[in-house]
Amino acid sequence: MHDFHYHNDALFCEDVPLERLAKEQGTPCYLYSHATLTRHFQAFDQAFASVPHLIAFAMKANSNLAILRLMASLGSGADIVSGGELFRALQAGIPANKIVFAGVGKSPEEIAYALDSDILLFNVESAAELQAINDVARGKGARARVALRVNPDIDPMTHPYITTGLKKSKFGIGADRALEEFTKAAALPNVEVIGVHAHIGSQLTQVSPFVDSLKKVVGLIETLKEQGIPIRYLNIGGGLGITYSDETPPHPTEYADAITPLLEAAQCEIIMEPGRVITGNAGVMLTRVLYIKETGTKNFAIVDAAMNDLLRPSLYEAHHDILPVRQVPNASTAVFDVVGPVCESGDFLAQNRTLPVVKAGDLLAVMSAGAYGFAMASNYNSRPRTSEIMVKGGESFVIRERETFEDLVRGERIPAFLEAKV
Ligand SMILES: *Cc1c(COP(=O)(O)O)cnc(C)c1O
Repeated sequence: MHDFHYHNDALFCEDVPLERLAKEQGTPCYLYSHATLTRHFQAFDQAFASVPHLIAFAMKANSNLAILRLMASLGSGADIVSGGELFRALQAGIPANKIVFAGVGKSPEEIAYALDSDILLFNVESAAELQAINDVARGKGARARVALRVNPDIDPMTHPYITTGLKKSKFGIGADRALEEFTKAAALPNVEVIGVHAHIGSQLTQVSPFVDSLKKVVGLIETLKEQGIPIRYLNIGGGLGITYSDETPPHPTEYADAITPLLEAAQCEIIMEPGRVITGNAGVMLTRVLYIKETGTKNFAIVDAAMNDLLRPSLYEAHHDILPVRQVPNASTAVFDVVGPVCESGDFLAQNRTLPVVKAGDLLAVMSAGAYGFAMASNYNSRPRTSEIMVKGGESFVIRERETFEDLVRGERIPAFLEAKV
């Protein structure tokens, strides 16, 4: 559940009407509910109260410093995938000993930065990367703590772009090779193998793929123990889905109930990396209708937000509910394509969507935009990125300023040989 609701036909975030936020902050902008973020984190945390665990929030879902600080205050660590995310996590006050580092292409500089920061562990995705980590650690006279990411070859039955645990995927080490790689890793002098990691995909709406994956992983942990490679951490990744339209994903407690017996059997400290399930439904993108364009075959609602602000519909044909900020009782409906100003036919927020009839000037809330929303925003078409606002009770706080035109060209240079040419 989230804290965006109607009151006297006006859409609110907690106690703040979105109309007021649009007036004060302009559009488009992202809005996050402090109460929803907090409740989602705590629900997840409490679901696993019976096993020793660390939640490492998957910050690629939403990496705003204020959101990360809130997560840190609730006890969260971070799952990072780049040096830039490590910098953000540390800036936000997430303790280094709660940070885990995944990703198939860690550079030597990123590995060195993470070692210097003394993060909890690296989630290693290939034999070549393991060697690179060993080499960087040797240069520092250090020992890197690592978990090997195994690829259990389980179909999570989600969108192919967010499926990560199949044999053909670029992620992790194949289950058939895992024992061999763990044995090799255990022999390397500058790494310490302390964990097993598996993350099979995102937006999962059933528990069975998680269970199937964990069965394989727990079996591996038992074999490793027999081989004299004790495993201290079992990292189960993230991936629990949310309701965008009519999906019925398991509640965190259902997820926990289904997998806790397996977690207990593993006799490890558990790391989990939820992203979407924490922030997805805690955020919306607020946008204003600029024009209505009727072409005879279609009605377009042209809004001031675009694919550069929210990429998911264009990238995955993802569905986001779109709600009017001012409800009109018994309004008639029509079918719209909700599109942005970007010069691409793929620039849409919704296609063939039945909406209450909207007109220029109306405000719309694009729901479920708190994960992989602003985090994927770009400056395409030289559009400044939006502001981000956190709402807490009756108050609102700008947690990221809207970019300016000057921000767009910062860092760009015209070489001297071109300067005289105009
Ligand atoms: C993306 C990712 C996550 C988070 O996935 P969600 O679906 O947002 O929960 C967790 N772990 C790893 C390794 C990831 O790549």
